[in-house]
Amino acid sequence: MSDELAQNLVEVEQQLARFRNATLTHFVNGAAYAGESGESFTNASPIDNSVTGLVAAGSAADIDVACRAAADAFPAWRAMAGEARRDLLHRIADAVEANAREIALVESYDTGQALRFMSKAAVRGAENFRFFADRAPGAQDGLSLPAAEHLNFSLRQPIGPVGVITPWNTPFMLSTWKIAPALAAGCTVVHKPAEWSPYSAALLVEIMHDAGLPAGVMNTVQGLGEEAGKALTEHPDIKAVAFVGESVTGSHIMRQGAATLKRVHFELGGKNPVVVFEDADLERALDAVVFMIYSLNGERCTSSSRLLIQGSVKEEFLQKLAARVDQLKVGHPLDPATEVGPLIHPRHLDKVCSYFDLAREEGAAVAVGGGRASVAAGAVEGGNFVTPTLFTDASNHMRIAQEEIFGPVLTAISFQDEAEAVALANGVDYGLAGYVWTGDSGRAIRMAQALDVGMVWVNSENNRHLPTPFGGMKASGIGRDGGDYSFDFYMETKNVCIAAGTHGIPQLGNG
Ligand code: NAD
Repeated sequence: MSDELAQNLVEVEQQLARFRNATLTHFVNGAAYAGESGESFTNASPIDNSVTGLVAAGSAADIDVACRAAADAFPAWRAMAGEARRDLLHRIADAVEANAREIALVESYDTGQALRFMSKAAVRGAENFRFFADRAPGAQDGLSLPAAEHLNFSLRQPIGPVGVITPWNTPFMLSTWKIAPALAAGCTVVHKPAEWSPYSAALLVEIMHDAGLPAGVMNTVQGLGEEAGKALTEHPDIKAVAFVGESVTGSHIMRQGAATLKRVHFELGGKNPVVVFEDADLERALDAVVFMIYSLNGERCTSSSRLLIQGSVKEEFLQKLAARVDQLKVGHPLDPATEVGPLIHPRHLDKVCSYFDLAREEGAAVAVGGGRASVAAGAVEGGNFVTPTLFTDASNHMRIAQEEIFGPVLTAISFQDEAEAVALANGVDYGLAGYVWTGDSGRAIRMAQALDVGMVWVNSENNRHLPTPFGGMKASGIGRDGGDYSFDFYMETKNVCIAAGTHGIPQLGNG
């Protein structure tokens, strides 16, 4: 064991002591809240599946308490000047930064994501707060739309209390990406974090409270999706639901929210293509291909899980790729050297492993990996480790090319020309992201226009710029996040039409 890992383990144990010693509660209306039911569920670490503690399982009654707190807090929060909300959100960002190491250690332990990536997650969370803090004063701005004898102007106002439901893959960063714009817009929030990664959400709401956020503005209810999550999406006080998770869960939420006409924003699954043409800088493309599927354990919505490689460079590229995949460092997520950690949960491990068998049945070649990782290969005894895997000789109709595996597993398919590349890239139900590698600027433009995805990166690997729209087409989502797009979701746009007093009004009942 390296010295750094030993030190990280000592530190994380200090952080985990509170979770080990007492049931983790909800946080509602500015205070810890045990909940009505007294029900709880166990939380385990993916590193070795040892139990880390009990977590309160929120019921519909608990969700009701939280939603009423959010509704009560809404008028004052909405009325607060944008400048005051800005200053508060900056204070939250300062506090997140001050606690970045604690957040990173706990999140890494709780999710199995390697610390080298999680150490940036809290910092990115703080950036999300800062970015939307600075936009809070202008969030209500609208347009001036003059017409004959009338002046129209639009303005925006917060939609009301909103529900935020998040997944387990990078929980801290993702939840701030939703919560920061909601608060900047003037909405209050009830957050239901994923049941497989409850800890960093508890840290977040406490940090926000300690930074001075008024009671009830931000509430967190732990619990299961089918119970607490469902109740949140059905609650009449909740005006909109921002959801990140699987496409099938998005369908459930749409159904559940129908009776109360919920506005929904969905960031769902992906089976994102990375298209590598023969005229690309193949060395840079190789770095990006490896990074975008094997970082974050491949548990990443924007991972490039399908490699479409042009036939003329296929042999050389796949050979180099296989050598890189073979050398990836599997290990304890708190070891700074680790590149691939354990998968979140034994159920998810089973799902990912089922694709190893399926690939063989479907007739693809398992060029690298394709099994559980052994202790000799870096795994921790009892943990959810798999070997980083590369499938080659695959066809687009295979399930390994169509379904989101959500692990460190890449499916490679070859193509001959641009038209075939487009057909393969678009030939899936999903449409979140697409990556194109080419040295031909005309081809880059043609591909960017042709791909049915919400986001295209050309000669790059998922570099984010917060004002840009983030989201997916097809089964990958509804709506966009980022910059003003987020405010469009969390706010209502209102038009005001004022007459100059000069126009003729139709006169009825006047002879
Ligand atoms: P999931 O859909 O199983 O769960 C997500 C959240 O929804 C959890 O908090 C869960 O408790 C809750 N939930 C489950 N059933 C519910 C219901 N009936 N009503 C209300 N809430 C319910 O997803 P997951 O397995 O936690 O996360 C992985 C998925 O998330 C992948 O498909 C991944 O692509 C997707 N994801 C998408 C993005 C994006 O930006 N597009 C980002 C990250 C993850």
